[in-house]
Amino acid sequence: MDRLSDTPQTAANSAATLAVDPVTMTTTTGILTIDLDAIVANWTRLKSQGVPAECAAVVKADAYGCGITPVTRALWKAGCRTFFVATLDEARAVRDVARTAVIYVLDGFFPNSGPTFAEIDCRPVIGDATEFAEWESLRKITGRQNAAAIHIDTGMNRLGFSIAEAEALLPRIHAGNHGITLVMSHLANAELLGDPMNGRQVAAFRDIASRFSGVAASLSNSSGIFLGSQFHFDVLRPGAALYGVNPTPEADTPMLPVVNLKARIAQIRQIERGQTVGYGATWTARRPTRLAIVTAGYADGYFRAAGSVDNRRGAEAVVAGKRCPIAGRISMDLLAIDITDVPPHAVRRGHMATLIGDGITVDHLAHHAGTIGYEVLTNLGRRFTRVYVGEAD
Ligand SMILES: *Cc1c(COP(=O)(O)O)cnc(C)c1O
Repeated sequence: MDRLSDTPQTAANSAATLAVDPVTMTTTTGILTIDLDAIVANWTRLKSQGVPAECAAVVKADAYGCGITPVTRALWKAGCRTFFVATLDEARAVRDVARTAVIYVLDGFFPNSGPTFAEIDCRPVIGDATEFAEWESLRKITGRQNAAAIHIDTGMNRLGFSIAEAEALLPRIHAGNHGITLVMSHLANAELLGDPMNGRQVAAFRDIASRFSGVAASLSNSSGIFLGSQFHFDVLRPGAALYGVNPTPEADTPMLPVVNLKARIAQIRQIERGQTVGYGATWTARRPTRLAIVTAGYADGYFRAAGSVDNRRGAEAVVAGKRCPIAGRISMDLLAIDITDVPPHAVRRGHMATLIGDGITVDHLAHHAGTIGYEVLTNLGRRFTRVYVGEAD
């Protein structure tokens, strides 16, 4: 078997090489390695940042593309007891591996979805009065066994009760036996440390949440955790930072990288100065150039916008330990890398190029594609061979 590259391998990468069986190793177009130990370390880091608040985990969208089942299993094993998902299907996936976890469903309570909530034993995050009334009728049927969260909008104008609507719920809260276990809101600009909206939202939330006496409160996503202890309340709700996205984009990341993506070099070709590369002929060789054609493209979630055109550099890849620029547009299944500066003996057809990892973060790639790390992660392709290292082994 070829070595993946001639660079020193990280623990995760060499474990991935071992974990892929020899036949798959010869056929796969790419290997996506997800480091569950890094996810657990990131969770522990966020938890210690927010002490004494409880640190939950947001595992919606297949745990941001990292795999809801292995990620939930690893976090459950590490001591995480509360999970947030967007949908009931996701809640079911969490329930299958975390038998007694508290599970909140962020999309809320759809009409007639009560029996499924009861069956999975998960809790809707309720954001309007009609939803609340429907959920209360379910509670009458189930003998007031089930619980829910109340979402209050403090500036997102997405889901949630207005402050005035939330105040209208207070008599029921004070009457007791209400089943409300969490009151929450969501920050719109948490990744910008100095943004005045953060202060306005935390003040509004502190005021209304304090009136839901005896009910736990939750405000902060990943970035909110780094805004200071007044943002922590009782329950933290990090998602992206668990998976290695930088929650403090104005500073160096405090998180460990989680995802490593390698794709196969299918062909190496030499072109002359003046020749162009790819669709639209957007990239022109300024010197005799060696190209590695790699088996990943926009159908694999490698954003087309990360390609390069003349006078605008695109994303980079690591080949044989060296950072190399993408040449030209990203195709559906392929991309080209300028490997002229890699010594010819160091790279051969069949080797792998690193597209994420070895110093290239999801945030870097996102930057070149004009998007955010969240979108890079949730688009990670289904064609890659997935390898999990760490906890779940
Ligand atoms: C997705 C989501 C989170 C997690 O946000 P990150 O920025 O990924 O940490 C928290 N709360 C709500 C309501 C969400 O929708």
